[in-house]
Amino acid sequence: MSILQDPVHYPNPAYEANQGVGMTSQRTRNRLVERLIFLGITDPDVLNAVRVTPRHLFLDEAMASRAYEDTALPIGYSQTISQPWVVAKMTSWLNAKGSLNRVLDIGTGSGYQAAILALLAQQVYTIERIEPLLIRAEQVLKKLELENVMFSLADGYWGLPSYAPFDGILSAASPERVPEELFDQLVENGRLVMPIGSEEQLLYGYVKTSTGYTEECLGEVMFVPMLKGIES
Ligand code: SAH
Repeated sequence: MSILQDPVHYPNPAYEANQGVGMTSQRTRNRLVERLIFLGITDPDVLNAVRVTPRHLFLDEAMASRAYEDTALPIGYSQTISQPWVVAKMTSWLNAKGSLNRVLDIGTGSGYQAAILALLAQQVYTIERIEPLLIRAEQVLKKLELENVMFSLADGYWGLPSYAPFDGILSAASPERVPEELFDQLVENGRLVMPIGSEEQLLYGYVKTSTGYTEECLGEVMFVPMLKGIES
């Protein structure tokens, strides 16, 4: 049975208050979930997180009516909010073994991915190199009364060693090659999902083993490049 037949359970009253109307309504979000199911997303936790999360809050008002299209959209500073299908795919891969405790989200951007993760993991650490984006994302998550997300202004290439180890790491920015530092910050059997490459990018899922890591290619994607340093 499709989760769409179940009544909606919002995580807290702030979600209920921000559920939107018309093009930003629960009905419109349900249609997006239908599309994700059609595209092969099956993880009920992920589908439920997309179903309740008001993606329109993560966009400028002028863009809000397009929030539930399955597409990446501009968020300023030459960055984009990721396509819902890509968010769902990456999150499902990270959650494949269930019970995520600590998760690192690289490239906060709008904060949408962090908000989805916050409904699945105990604690989310999200890092962004562009300070105004980080501040805006923090405000949206505060509005949603999500209290298990910590925000850092940092260059994600180096991970967040002071809060390691993580069960899962997800990056929405694409480096040329895998930053080896990130493996040091994963628990054994921990999972890392990220795009690799510049012009042509592939999404990879890695599992840390006792001797190194296994690698699985999850298909072609298009993300922004992982840049160095921070911008205030
Ligand atoms: N997860 C975001 C996607 C934003 S796009 C969302 O749901 O909206 C990717 C983000 O990665 C951009 O905001 C970009 O500024 C950021 N980024 C790029 N290189 C980075 C780096 N080295 N460290 C941290 N963030 C980085």
